[in-house]
Amino acid sequence: MTQDENTTPDADTTPSFEELGITGPVLAAIRDLGYETPSPIQVATIPPLLAGRDVVGQAQTGTGKTAAFALPILEHLDMNQKSPQALVLAPTRELALQVTAATEKYGRHIRHLKAVAILGGMPYPKQMMLLAHNPEILVATPGRLIDHMESGRIDFSELQMLVLDEADRMLDMGFIEDIEKIVA
Ligand code: AMP
Repeated sequence: MTQDENTTPDADTTPSFEELGITGPVLAAIRDLGYETPSPIQVATIPPLLAGRDVVGQAQTGTGKTAAFALPILEHLDMNQKSPQALVLAPTRELALQVTAATEKYGRHIRHLKAVAILGGMPYPKQMMLLAHNPEILVATPGRLIDHMESGRIDFSELQMLVLDEADRMLDMGFIEDIEKIVA
């Protein structure tokens, strides 16, 4: 696929975000941001993710991959739950922060939404405080997440959705054992 085909969907044949199943506050955020049509990776992944299926998505950088998993996560949230429902693992702190910011952007109209980044190099007390506020979404680098899990600070009993962002890079960076531990 060329870059053009990745980024320039045909407006006549591409379904709308509504037709893909995006509703209410998530749709309102998309409208605020001025997104007119879903990108090809979003058309491909949003419906199966909303249906609860497992998906492997592959697309170049800058083609809307973050929204491709973040929008279905936000659609699925139950704001009455008191422990994390979605976990996104990312290979680097920079990517984890970008995903957290994007999630907040797409979730700006969901009242009381909390997305927290759990990253190596950040002070533990601050992270413990953020975890104590019952975030719905965690975005983490693997090593630091395991530290918190092993200390019993994260309750995954309500976890519904797991994303491995840039999974190929995480495997290249040797995170396989960490990921297996987290998934188990
Ligand atoms: P990503 O590939 O997730 O890093 O997204 C690349 C850029 O495209 C980000 O600035 C997004 O805000 C933007 N974006 C994502 N989806 C769409 C869309 N359907 N229409 C327009 N811009 C989008």
